[in-house]
Amino acid sequence: MGPQLPSDSHYMQLPREVLIGKQVAPLVGETLTRLRIRGRALIVTGPKVKNIAADIVLDSLNDYGFSTEISVVEGSTTEQVMMVENKINAFKPDIIVGVGGGKDIDVAKLSSMHTSKQFLSVPTAASHDGIASPLVSMKGMDRPYSYVAHSPVAIIADTSIIGKSPYRLIASGCGDVVAKYTAVRDWKLAHRIKNEYYGDYAAELAIMSSRLVMKNSSSIRMVSESGVRTLVEALISCGVAMSIAGTSRPCSGAEHLFSHYLTMTAPKPALHGEQCGVGTIMCAYLHGANWELIKEVLHKIGAPTTSTELGIEPKYVLEALIKAHTIRPERYTILGESGLTKEAAQRVATITGVVT
Ligand SMILES: [Zn+2]
Repeated sequence: MGPQLPSDSHYMQLPREVLIGKQVAPLVGETLTRLRIRGRALIVTGPKVKNIAADIVLDSLNDYGFSTEISVVEGSTTEQVMMVENKINAFKPDIIVGVGGGKDIDVAKLSSMHTSKQFLSVPTAASHDGIASPLVSMKGMDRPYSYVAHSPVAIIADTSIIGKSPYRLIASGCGDVVAKYTAVRDWKLAHRIKNEYYGDYAAELAIMSSRLVMKNSSSIRMVSESGVRTLVEALISCGVAMSIAGTSRPCSGAEHLFSHYLTMTAPKPALHGEQCGVGTIMCAYLHGANWELIKEVLHKIGAPTTSTELGIEPKYVLEALIKAHTIRPERYTILGESGLTKEAAQRVATITGVVT
């Protein structure tokens, strides 16, 4: 959604302030004031979050003289986005503050973009990289994957709140970061085969995030302050990598297509990042890369590494491997243009132990 630029130039939209650490949520009011944003603030949050983090943010905004209203959303559907947009049109806020998990942040991001408002992100979970990315993925849209929205003006990630979220969400966030291991390989492949734009800087940033999460898997597993911080920094860096690239390419390859496909087809899909992690194991195998390392790291983190652990029957996993390339044909990946054959899918899933 950047300005009209000459074709050889490159547009990046980045957050202006990022705060990560214990007890930073009460600094929302102060941060906005420093950014010279004042007046009215609309908090967009989920029903579960409302009384915990949202109250802290509300107090902080009130302390700094904001008049505030709260929109409670349930899920990230187009209806919820329209509901918030109506609220924005009536309340005319100067800033939208998204407080909650990925879905709540997505609604804040998209409704603020549609109404040309700035938004600030206060993630309460670290389950995927949407908390800081300029992209958004919505249910009820014609495409299941993300498209470019806009970057938050600031991100305030309180590790004391995120550390108390269910561990499953943290493990899922790790899966989404580890996924960059194959996403960047797919991006390079598309560059070589399709002459697609490739940016070293964005690619390295995404790869570095995945490396750091792998290296710090034990401290993440212990949910130590430094472990949670590493994960949150990695997710935010991934968001920045997408902002720099102007596309989700550095963060989303075949392992994401696999995850999106499962989300669309499995009767009970697992979490986005959990599915991405399992997809990364198999895509790393297809790339001839170190899939054993990916599997070991995910296992150590306590993230799923098999279809059983995902709670998804093997037939859905195999079908996703065979058909994932069809949901986004313009995104060239290791799955190729015609996808894996049934036999190849069976082989990769069996060799990597995802399906037994
Ligand atoms: Zn993802």
